[in-house]
Amino acid sequence: MRLRVTAVATAVTLAVLIALALLTSRMIGPLLVRSADDELAPVLSLAVEAVAAGKSPAGGSPNIHVHVLDTAGEPADGQPAPVLSYADVRVLKASTPVLRLTDTPPTRWQGTVITAPDGSQRLVVVGTGLPGYSAAHGGAIRWLLIAAVIVAAAGALATWFAVSSALRPVQRMRLAATRLGAGKRLPLPTSHDELRALAGALNDLLARRDEAADRLRRFTGDAAHELRSPVASIRVQAEVAVRHPDPELSQEVLTEVVHESERLSALVDGLLTLARSDAGEVPPAEPVDLTAAAQAAAARCPDDGPEVVVHTPTGLCWVWAAHNEVDLVLDNLLRNACRHASSLITVTVIAGPTVTRLAIDDDGSGIPIEHRQRVFDRFYRVQDDRARSSGGTGLGLALVAEVVRRRGGTVRVSESPEGGARFLVSWRTTSVS
Ligand code: ADP
Repeated sequence: MRLRVTAVATAVTLAVLIALALLTSRMIGPLLVRSADDELAPVLSLAVEAVAAGKSPAGGSPNIHVHVLDTAGEPADGQPAPVLSYADVRVLKASTPVLRLTDTPPTRWQGTVITAPDGSQRLVVVGTGLPGYSAAHGGAIRWLLIAAVIVAAAGALATWFAVSSALRPVQRMRLAATRLGAGKRLPLPTSHDELRALAGALNDLLARRDEAADRLRRFTGDAAHELRSPVASIRVQAEVAVRHPDPELSQEVLTEVVHESERLSALVDGLLTLARSDAGEVPPAEPVDLTAAAQAAAARCPDDGPEVVVHTPTGLCWVWAAHNEVDLVLDNLLRNACRHASSLITVTVIAGPTVTRLAIDDDGSGIPIEHRQRVFDRFYRVQDDRARSSGGTGLGLALVAEVVRRRGGTVRVSESPEGGARFLVSWRTTSVS
C-alpha cells in the first residue's frame, strides 16, 4: 500500500510538473517576441512619419535596424539590403510582422507600405535580434525537466515517510490482532482518527462474534440436553419392556414411547425451523387472513380441553406473513394456553389500519412478571418439570418470537383480565387488491 500510494503520488506529481515545464517553455518564446514587438512599434511609427515627410528616418537604438525599401524589397535608402526573403517582404507589405528563426540570433521584423512625397511606394521595415530565443527554447526546457524530476523525487520521499508513519498504528493493530486471545480486544490508538474508529468497530464486531459464539455454545448444549432426555426415556422404557415381557406392561411402555417420540419429533422440528430461520431461510410473505386462521386453529384444539372462544372482526383481516407462520403462532400459543388454562381461552383478532393484533388470553396461573421477558428464549421454562411432563419442548415461544419478529411484528406477554396469561402478537396489516 505504501509503495502504491507513493508510486501514484509521484507519477501524478511528475506528470503535472512535466506538463507545467512544457507549458512554461512554450510561453517563453512568445513573451520574447511580444517584448520585441513592443520595442519595434514606436520606432516603426517614427520612421513612417519621417519617410512620409520626405526625410530620412532616424536610426533606432543600436539593436534596432530601420530600412526603407521599394515595393520589390530593394533598398531605397542607400543602406545594405536587410536579410529578408521575397516571401518575408510580401508578408511585411501586408503589415504583418515576420519572425525569422533561421537567423542567428532569430530576428523579428515589422513593416508597412507608405507613399513618399514624390508619389513612390515605400516599404519601411524595422527589425531586431532575439538573442535569448533559442536558449530559452532549448535550455529552459532541459532545466525545467530536471527541476520537475528533483521535485517529484522529493515528493516521493515525503509521501513514503508520511504513509509509513500513518500506517504504523495499522501495523501495531495487525500485530495485536495476531496475538489476540479469546475474549480480548484490540488496543485503541490514542489519536481520535479513522483508525481509532476502525479499531472500535472491529472490537464491536469481536464482541458480537463472542456473544454469538456463546449463544451458539449454550444453544448446542441445551439442544443436546433436551434431545438426550426423550432418547434416554425411550431406551429405558424399551429395556424394561424387553426384560419383562408382560403384554399389559408392554402396552403401557409403548404408550409412553409414543409420547416421548412425539416430544422428540416436535423438538427436532422446532430445532430445524430455528436453524433454517437463523440461516436466513424465510418463506415468502403473502396476505394471510388472520380471522380464518384463528377460527381454524381454535377448531384444532382438543374437545376435552378448556373452552375456546373466538372474537373476530366481521369480514377478512389481512396480515403480511406466511400461512404456516401464522398457523405455527396460533397452534403454539393455543397449545400452551390449553396446558395452563383452567376452563376458558379467549382468542381476539383486532384489525387496525397499519397493525393487526392477535390476543390469546387464558384463565390459568399466568406468567410471573420476572419470567415474561425470558419465556421467549430458547429452552427457557417457567416450571421445568411440569412443562416436560406435559410434552413441552421449551422451544414453542422461541419459535413464535422468531417467526413474528422476522416479519417486523412484535410479541409480548402480560396478564389477561381473568388473571392468566395474555399473549399479544402484532403483524403488519396489508390489503388484497
Ligand atoms: P414449552 O413448549 O416447554 O411449554 P414454551 O416456549 O412454549 O415451552 O413456553 C415457555 C415457558 O412459558 C414454559 O415454561 C411455560 O410454562 C410458560 N408458558 C407458556 N405459555 C403459558 C401460559 N399460557 N400460561 C402460563 N405459562 C405459560
